[in-house]
Amino acid sequence: MQQPKNLTPVSQLGEFGLISRITRDIVLRNPTTIKGAGDDAAVIECGSKCLVFTTDMLTEGIHFDLVYFPLKHLGYKSAVVNFSDICAMNGVPKQITVSIGLSSKFSVEAVEEMYSGINAACEKYGVDLVGGDTVASASGLVISIAALGEAVKEQITYRNTAGKNDLICVSGDIGASYMGLLLLQREKKIFLESPGVQPDFSDKDYLLRRHLLPEARADIIRMFQEFKIKPTSMIDISDGLSSEILHLCHESGLGCTIYEDKIPMHPVARETARELNLDSTMVMLNGGEDYELLFTISQSDYEKIKDVQQVSIIGHMTDKEKGCYLSSKNNVLHPLTAQGWDAFLKGK
Ligand code: ADP
Ligand code: MG
Repeated sequence: MQQPKNLTPVSQLGEFGLISRITRDIVLRNPTTIKGAGDDAAVIECGSKCLVFTTDMLTEGIHFDLVYFPLKHLGYKSAVVNFSDICAMNGVPKQITVSIGLSSKFSVEAVEEMYSGINAACEKYGVDLVGGDTVASASGLVISIAALGEAVKEQITYRNTAGKNDLICVSGDIGASYMGLLLLQREKKIFLESPGVQPDFSDKDYLLRRHLLPEARADIIRMFQEFKIKPTSMIDISDGLSSEILHLCHESGLGCTIYEDKIPMHPVARETARELNLDSTMVMLNGGEDYELLFTISQSDYEKIKDVQQVSIIGHMTDKEKGCYLSSKNNVLHPLTAQGWDAFLKGK
């Protein structure tokens, strides 16, 4: 749509610019609203506990392509990405509502297939599906899930509370989901050009799983409880490591240094990046949708976490004035930039 001269196209601000514009003047009127917009989930006081509340929407053609995204997997992923935001607050997901917009191409069976995935995710994470909304959509499928979780007030972990010299940690490995996406897109292209050709995904199961069936790191939240660790800040990695680290730094008013050789990448993801002629560090920094947790801990918790298999320490927080940098394998400092997922930016 052509914008009249005096109006600003959304692409000029991008997703984060737009969110900050529409949320900057929000007035919170209820003392029970402890945290409004600006974190992975809102925090609401409720008796002796807090509720954490989040929502995420996925739209066909932007977030998923039904040519290669099975509906059951889509249902599973739509629920899990919300659980991940609850985990990123150090909370436990408990309930969801599911709202769907359906174009006329969808059958009852297709919707049931998607719900079988949502139900499987709810079963795995011990969550109740408590309602939703169903509407017609002019084109394609829209799925919007809202999740409620519980947390003890003192244990809730925000984005803006990292401290100088805190250690930066990441769970699992990153970059694999993006590699899975690129493989699926490549096979779709080949399929459209020569429909008879069967996709060759030999040895790439891990990457496809990471993209189509991600998990929320509820196990890491349990580990924090078990080891009595309270992260000083936390966010989940949906848009890309670089973008999420910059959120923690910006919100906490700090800088950071992360080390290229410490960032965890699965060998299959590394090998696939090589096959696709991509720089694996760029993939780790900017490939999104891994739904791992990025968090900071105080140095005094180092002993508690150093031997946890599923956690890598990748750097530390610094003074804001020092800026945000990646230290390369040969000790050259590169400024971190947010090149992760933003569907609104031009050229995406
Ligand atoms: P995440 O990647 O963790 O899901 P987002 O980047 O989508 O988070 O959103 C960042 C913050 O902005 C969240 O706190 C979210 O609730 C808020 N937000 C996003 N879109 C809107 C909107 N349209 N109106 C109000 N708040 C919004
Ligand atoms: Mg998040």
